[in-house]
Amino acid sequence: MSTETFSFQAEISQLMSLIINTFYSNKEVFLRELVSNASDALDKIRYEALTDPSKLDSEKELYIRITPDKENKILSIRDTGIGMTKADLVNNLGTIAKSGTKAFMEALSSGADISMIGQFGVGFYSAYLVAEKVQVISKHNDDEQYIWESAAGGSFTITRDTVNPPLGRGTEMRLFMKEDQLEYLEEKKIKEIIKKHSEFIGYPIQLAVEKETEKEVEDDEEEVKEGDAKIEEIEDEDEKKEKKKKTIKEKKIENEELNKTKPLWTRNPEDITNEEYATFYKSLTNDWADHMAVKHFAIEGQLEFRAILFVPSRAPFDMFETKKKRNNIKLYVRRVFIMDDCEDLIPEWLNFIKGIVDSEDLPLNISREMLQQNKILKVIRKNLVKKCLEMFAEIAEDKEQFTKFYEAFSKNIKLGVHEDAQNRAKLADLLRYHSTKARDEMTSLKDYITRMPEKQKNIYYITGESLTAVENSPFIEVLKKKGFEVLFMVDPIDEYAIAQLKEYDGKKLVSVTKEGLELEEDDQEKAAREAEEKSYEGLCTQIKEILGDKVEKVLISNRISESPCVLVTGAFGWSSNMERIMKAQALRDSSMSSYMASKKSLELNPKNPIIKTLKAKVDADKNDKTVKDLTLLMYDVALIVSGFSIEKTDVFADRINRMIKLGLAIDEDDEETSTSDMPALESEEPSEMEEVD
Ligand code: ADP
Ligand code: MG
Repeated sequence: MSTETFSFQAEISQLMSLIINTFYSNKEVFLRELVSNASDALDKIRYEALTDPSKLDSEKELYIRITPDKENKILSIRDTGIGMTKADLVNNLGTIAKSGTKAFMEALSSGADISMIGQFGVGFYSAYLVAEKVQVISKHNDDEQYIWESAAGGSFTITRDTVNPPLGRGTEMRLFMKEDQLEYLEEKKIKEIIKKHSEFIGYPIQLAVEKETEKEVEDDEEEVKEGDAKIEEIEDEDEKKEKKKKTIKEKKIENEELNKTKPLWTRNPEDITNEEYATFYKSLTNDWADHMAVKHFAIEGQLEFRAILFVPSRAPFDMFETKKKRNNIKLYVRRVFIMDDCEDLIPEWLNFIKGIVDSEDLPLNISREMLQQNKILKVIRKNLVKKCLEMFAEIAEDKEQFTKFYEAFSKNIKLGVHEDAQNRAKLADLLRYHSTKARDEMTSLKDYITRMPEKQKNIYYITGESLTAVENSPFIEVLKKKGFEVLFMVDPIDEYAIAQLKEYDGKKLVSVTKEGLELEEDDQEKAAREAEEKSYEGLCTQIKEILGDKVEKVLISNRISESPCVLVTGAFGWSSNMERIMKAQALRDSSMSSYMASKKSLELNPKNPIIKTLKAKVDADKNDKTVKDLTLLMYDVALIVSGFSIEKTDVFADRINRMIKLGLAIDEDDEETSTSDMPALESEEPSEMEEVD
């Protein structure tokens, strides 16, 4: 018999020792994970059999069977699912790295519960919570029967199975239980766990229970050995029966079905308790925590289907990992499971919704390709989106609940705003932002509008890298003074969402860092600005000449009241924040950046002393040498405060160093000779002592 030995992939090995050596209290999770794998395997064979019924020939009955063997301390979980070939055993159970392995270990070390293991796609290894050794015996239609075996320790073996009874098709997991985990061999315990976590699995889960039955047999022998039987014998004689009889106890294994409930979605929502929904949700998703919200509905009429949709209580660890296959909504046709990764059932932005759909109209043998263009599916999809929006609106009625929802799924909502033109307005109701007037709690756009001063026409927002950055941005100086609230958008996805949203409740959404900000001036303000524009015309022209191509225009600002100047971007191009985001995306299409990259205009604050002095200098001498240097420096500073990055940092550093020298009154020419003792400083200005005298 040839046995091959394989090493576990390093991280899997690490995870296994963690599972074995750490104390966890929720050990019972192992059973849910193994039953869920069995159910997945049954789903797969049933799906294959839809197009090729002969695939079931190797084993017609579809079931999961749990057999506790107390004598040998083995718990066996057997399914008649698809099974695993030798290659499957090697690949799926130990050698192929999974992104979830590392992510799960990280989650564990930051306090996640062991019960979340299934969500990270490594549920199989939970067997080692209770077992010291595991055997996986498996038979796939395309291969022989093999035994996978491991007692952890970094390696596993694979052996052609010549010792066990043939499975026909499917997998048997044999757990050799640890001495202190024998309670999981108790019928009562198993029943309790299955009821709690796996009640709604779509295949019969059988528990092999030992039943003692009493049976009467004719007794031909005279000798009576057992006391019990003797008494009965005497009774028999008392009754003067013709034939001698005795009762013997017989041990028989019976398969008791543990999950007899009808599929939950076929029942009337009014008769279903929240606990039942929670159990269903958990068995559907491998989540340990309860769902946050549920929507159970039936659509009737031209098209019929039933569905249950859930919002989880938190986001999965890999929600935006784009390569990952989604299996969030299980598709059934007339109670038969079809597939759990049908991408056309729900849009990408709703990829956090879990649930099931059971259609009355789709054909049973529908293929993936057919589904893509299927009209019925399109209608179902539209309805699912509608029901999700209803569910979100319901969550929003409870503020505390909605805060949790928004923390977990705001990115999805924003993605929805970006992608779903039809539902954009409804989704916009769900948006929440911090603002100049909502610092602790976020505000909705609706509430923003109620706070708008009468003369304010638009909704103003600023995008940026962080709350601190936007809160202190010069761009909002004047708006703050005028009492115009500014929304803070600091999530990269805000840039995308807001580009599509454009308006809310008839009010335009206006960026305060972009060109053409009107700011609802009254006549007086307007006249004052126009006068300033006129008197600063000379300075603007001169600065534009100095900066050349660096800026499109130089003009007088209506949005800053403290800072000397800011750089604004074109109304339809990228904001500085968007430019930063795009630079951070290594794989972006570089041709985009040439025309989208921000065309900047420099806006000057005529009330700022620096600008005033510069104006005076230019008015006195148009070609004043110091103006050029200071303008370039001012431009660099404007880049920084406006959220751009400086390209030539060495040139910038040179300029700053020159300023420092100026401050220290170091003469450029003497630099070489006088760095150590700087006598010039003292001789130029009177010392404090002298002043006092
Ligand atoms: P997941 O179920 O999330 O894929 P697991 O660690 O639970 O992760 O299982 C790993 C893989 O092992 C499964 O994807 C499947 O391919 C295979 N597997 C586990 N149990 C069974 C089983 N009973 N029958 C067939 N394949 C199985
Ligand atoms: Mg699993």
